[in-house]
Amino acid sequence: MIDFRPTATDEAMLARLHAEALICRRHARAFDEREAEMIPDVLPEAAAFEAEAKANPLPKPGPDDTPPAVMMMLQTMAAYWGDYSVRLRRSTSGGLGNAALMAAGTEAQKAKWGQLLLSMAITEPGCGSDPSRVSTTAVLDEQTNEWILNGEKIFVTTGIRADGVVLWATLDKSAGRAGIKSFLVVKGTPGFDVPHKEKKLGIRADDTAAYVFRDCRIPRENLLGGDESIPKQSSGGFRGVMKTFNMTRPLTAAMGLGIAEAALDATREALTEAGVELDWATGPGGMGRLSAAAERFMRLETLFEASKWTVLQCAWMAGKGLPNNLESSVSKAHAGSAVRQITQGCIEILGAMGISREHLFEKWMRDSRITDIYEGTGEIQRLIIARGLLDYTRDDLK
Ligand SMILES: Cc1cc2nc3c(=O)[nH]c(=O)nc-3n(C[C@H](O)[C@H](O)[C@H](O)COP(=O)(O)OP(=O)(O)OC[C@H]3O[C@@H](n4cnc5c(N)ncnc54)[C@H](O)[C@@H]3O)c2cc1C
Repeated sequence: MIDFRPTATDEAMLARLHAEALICRRHARAFDEREAEMIPDVLPEAAAFEAEAKANPLPKPGPDDTPPAVMMMLQTMAAYWGDYSVRLRRSTSGGLGNAALMAAGTEAQKAKWGQLLLSMAITEPGCGSDPSRVSTTAVLDEQTNEWILNGEKIFVTTGIRADGVVLWATLDKSAGRAGIKSFLVVKGTPGFDVPHKEKKLGIRADDTAAYVFRDCRIPRENLLGGDESIPKQSSGGFRGVMKTFNMTRPLTAAMGLGIAEAALDATREALTEAGVELDWATGPGGMGRLSAAAERFMRLETLFEASKWTVLQCAWMAGKGLPNNLESSVSKAHAGSAVRQITQGCIEILGAMGISREHLFEKWMRDSRITDIYEGTGEIQRLIIARGLLDYTRDDLK
């Protein structure tokens, strides 16, 4: 039986994360306004919070508690409920590149680079939704056994803080997807530059960078997975690396839903304070007895709940080792649209209060917009869903 009800142990863990998230939220506006700055790796409140947490340890999760893959989504939502970018203490691992290394690296590569914080650079000025158009090149110098990399990457998450990057480059542009390989490039390698932090609508405090590679030489063994061949009839290593997204897409959805839940909670508080009745138990046809604001709000809550279940189901399948390619796109596509409607809907309900920079509603609207853009836009997720549900091929949908 699938049971997503949190146990007492789960609840204790989530309550601790919410307390931590509230501290992060206190700093959210300041770092949003100082976009060019990097957020400190450790907030001033960290030591006191952690000392108290140590003095009051949480119960250890057991087999009857929510499985780790599902719990990871709930924990992500709880953390992003505080703020998208500000953390009490930043982790030094867990970039998107780390997920790619785990999915496609050899055992030796995982052992060598697993401790580094790794970003992942696919997007280029002329290549986004269709990664097969990557034009950064990797040319093998047989004399020195080195790859020579040339190209430009944009919008790289954790791009400044990362110790290195999993970089997508083509060995042979005429081979299309089959020619694309990923390479591990460590910061400090000559020819690898980080020219600037990107300026953005939302998640402004987040570390997003541009990269430039000019005759950047890396050892031959830095090709992820080690397979240098370019297969004639298949997509080569491309498909393997794309699998990275089957867990990161629901995670991205969970991040956005954390922001949406923050907006809903604060709107509920404001409406209650204004004396608006929010009662789900109004009975059949009951919505008609509610105020327009209450009805609107409750529809947004419904949207949130529906989206959350797609994320939890997808994570549950991943935890069971079931294929979840379709479900991960469903969760991402649904959340991408839901968080936009929810954060915007909250602003509409609240009017001037929603727009004022004295509150965080307008920031939540800007921050949640990214959910529908990176890790594949909503349109691209819908193409994947059409392929999965209706058996369309890539060519049918071109
Ligand atoms: C804050 C931020 C962080 C990011 N982090 C990373 C990162 O860490 N690493 C990385 O490699 N990239 C990253 N990206 C890039 C992101 O993945 C791309 O922006 C995204 O894939 C879309 O690509 P694009 O911007 O080039 O848009 P385009 O591909 O040019 O698309 C433009 C529009 O056309 C639509 N479209 C495109 N193709 C189709 C189609 N076939 N059918 C229907 N509609 C279509 C898209 O949905 C979109 O609405 C990040 C972006 C941002 C904003």
